[in-house]
Amino acid sequence: MKRFIHLHERGLETTDSSSENCRTMFCSKCRNIKKDIVNFSFKINQIKPSTSPIAGLHPIVTLIERRLIDVLKEERVRRWLHVGDVVNQQGIKLENWLAVFGDSPIIVRGTRECSYRTCEECGRIFYSAQGGRYIFPPHHEDGQIFQTDLCGLLVEEGAIDRDRLPKSRWLGVEVLNADPNPRDGFGNLEAQVASGALPRAFPERFPSRWELAPRVED
Ligand SMILES: [Zn+2]
Repeated sequence: MKRFIHLHERGLETTDSSSENCRTMFCSKCRNIKKDIVNFSFKINQIKPSTSPIAGLHPIVTLIERRLIDVLKEERVRRWLHVGDVVNQQGIKLENWLAVFGDSPIIVRGTRECSYRTCEECGRIFYSAQGGRYIFPPHHEDGQIFQTDLCGLLVEEGAIDRDRLPKSRWLGVEVLNADPNPRDGFGNLEAQVASGALPRAFPERFPSRWELAPRVED
């Protein structure tokens, strides 16, 4: 199994997006950032983001600080992700930060109590699970950077120098296996939902809010 490194925010100090961000940036149903947004700037509700060099925000936007951008390499970040400026509550552009999001976030999967639903408007899949974490193997090119649905960033293990990562207790560095036989029973979830093999699960149309996976023993 291939292994990927998942960089994500740890800790409880969250960064909030400002209500002054233009509404047209977000899906009108699920309120997450639209995939076709380019040249954006993203306003936060604080003077600066949290103490972690990576911060995840509710509209599935990830903020990364210069010391982490330099390890990932900025040209690589710009090649694989949508990149925008970060503006603070006083309207000042934060030169040491970038706001990023991916075309199709990689879903971090689990082993227990697995379920998903889809947004009726933009088709985004929302996933929930407990237990051990892993991903379904993504099609990827050398050095490709993905965003995850947990607002982290994901790269193949060999494509990043872990020793150079910023030393911060608030930066989560997690190894995720790419498992072609997901234990949540959903297989290639995105492909199966797209093809209709798994239902698009809208809260309005299903008795339960989430489409549940078949029970899998841990
Ligand atoms: Zn949506």
